[in-house]
Amino acid sequence: MQDIWSLAIHGGAGTIRRDELTPEKAAAYRIALEAALRAGGAILAAGGSAEEAVVAAAISLEDCPLFNAGHGSTFTAAGTIEMDACLMTSTAEAGAVTGVTRIRNPILAARAVMRATPHVLLAGAAADDFAAAQGLVLEAPAYFETAHRRAQLLAAQAAQTVVLDHDLPAKMGTIGAVARDRHGALAAATSTGGMTNKRAGRVGDTPILGAGTWADARVAISCTGTGEAFLRCAAAHEVAALMRLAGKSLREATEEVALLRVPEAGGHGGLIAVDAAGEVALPFGTEGMYRGWWRAGEAPRTAIHAD
Ligand code: ASP
Repeated sequence: MQDIWSLAIHGGAGTIRRDELTPEKAAAYRIALEAALRAGGAILAAGGSAEEAVVAAAISLEDCPLFNAGHGSTFTAAGTIEMDACLMTSTAEAGAVTGVTRIRNPILAARAVMRATPHVLLAGAAADDFAAAQGLVLEAPAYFETAHRRAQLLAAQAAQTVVLDHDLPAKMGTIGAVARDRHGALAAATSTGGMTNKRAGRVGDTPILGAGTWADARVAISCTGTGEAFLRCAAAHEVAALMRLAGKSLREATEEVALLRVPEAGGHGGLIAVDAAGEVALPFGTEGMYRGWWRAGEAPRTAIHAD
């Protein structure tokens, strides 16, 4: 077992306006991010797996109403909540769910798909039923709903747009975690309510392997931003491909995708990544990205804007 371990998390990217982010709100985000870092980091420090660590961090963020995943997810145009989640490890194990409406922690359903089925992606009501059969906690729709999300939906509908959380006056976002454990394994997890005022049935990048989430022996990636753009350029897999086939460093590959490929594909956002050496990268092409990182021997760090 080595002394190297690393964890990075995000809570979504977008137009996080400094004038609207009061010191109190910023502090609340940082506290929530640090709690998620500590949930995952404690597992890594104790020699636990990257998979366990990213799931623990994701649960912490899904349970927090500040972020757009689990409790506090965004509404579809139909006024419903449809959530997506994905988990992948460096040993090519993967599981995902899309369009689930009742699972308290969608990341646990993604893990159950990975562990208990021969499949990778389950959708809709059948995925909810599968989670129930697996003994996962289900909630009534009211559990996921928050007043500020309802207000965001009304604002988006008035403006006739489909929006990222952080581009709305009330700022919240998709969540993700990537980790490298002391045994050298990598894992990535992403979970989201999607985009406010999305069409019911719309599937974003989050649950699609290679778009919003990817892990292999070299790198683990979790994305946030305009899902359609991340899908069009296979963003997460593009990072892995640039490293494997073009010999790019973690930093070069992640910046190329977040700052060039995603905008070229018509969107914006950011991503977090960790490589086999335990290096982390957290580039974003938006005004801000709620994020945190923690490496063995260092203190946990959180940040919101570029500085
Ligand atoms: N990428 C997510 C989606 O399109 C949204 C986000 O990251 O905030 O569903």
